[in-house]
Amino acid sequence: MSDLYPPEFRVDPELPATTDFTVTSVDGRVGMGVRTNKAFTRGVRVAKFTGQLSSKILQHTLQVTPDMHLHDPWFVGLFTHSCAPNCVLDMQRLEIWALTDIGSGELLTIDYSMTEDVLHRQFACGCGSAHCRRWITGRREGPNETGRAYLAGLESKKIKRMVARQPRRGTR
Ligand SMILES: [Zn+2]
Repeated sequence: MSDLYPPEFRVDPELPATTDFTVTSVDGRVGMGVRTNKAFTRGVRVAKFTGQLSSKILQHTLQVTPDMHLHDPWFVGLFTHSCAPNCVLDMQRLEIWALTDIGSGELLTIDYSMTEDVLHRQFACGCGSAHCRRWITGRREGPNETGRAYLAGLESKKIKRMVARQPRRGTR
């Protein structure tokens, strides 16, 4: 039964069900996430998704066309961001595909910067991936003022750490 979405969306039997996915709060983060109840192999279709079309960018929207967004606060809109995600979205077919092997109980992640040209809200990232970009923006926007200050702060901390690691020499 496709029971993750409200009844009006459940016409499609291929939509996800609570037997396969659990919407849950995520430790250390504000908001919800989605965990798997079974394993998925890299390269398979994880699920289909749906939502309401909106002309506005909201917290849980995903861009479909330059000026149309899909509002899904029930499933994909709740996926956690990662700079090295385990899922990628096909926004034409409204399908989720596994980029890596995904174990049962794992959080499903997508790269938010690929979901909208301009994000509802840019944010600092500590996803822990080796390629973490530290500050997440939409596809077609640079870091805002807060983001620039945040990244500059990280950079100056990094420089201070490098300087502190230099051997001292010639001090009197
Ligand atoms: Zn990150």
